Amino acid sequence: MVNDKMGASELPLAGIITESGNSEHFDTGEWRNKKPVHDIEKCKHCMMCILPCPDNATCHKDGKMTGIDYSKCKGCGICAEVCPFKAIHMVDEGGN
Ligand code: SF4
Ligand code: SF4
Repeated sequence: MVNDKMGASELPLAGIITESGNSEHFDTGEWRNKKPVHDIEKCKHCMMCILPCPDNATCHKDGKMTGIDYSKCKGCGICAEVCPFKAIHMVDEGGN
């Protein structure tokens, strides 16, 4: 786990994931140049987009897909690819 008190020699090597399930500790949204847009009208709440998201950024509550956590989403597009109902589409950052 990286924190702002660590010296350079303590930082993990770039590109190496040192522990599993750590994405919740990082705001990877600033990496994004494309963003997914969730269309609630088309969404059937099938949850196919929940597990494949590498950053736990596809949100759900009480069995319903509720949208995207843009502070975590790095714009990989997997959710848009796996959605069988075309309820997520990718747009350039800054546009819709
Ligand atoms: S995969 Fe598509 S239809 Fe299914 S919950 Fe996600 S956005 Fe909704
Ligand atoms: S684009 Fe979709 S799958 Fe990729 S990080 Fe963002 S929410 Fe997750």
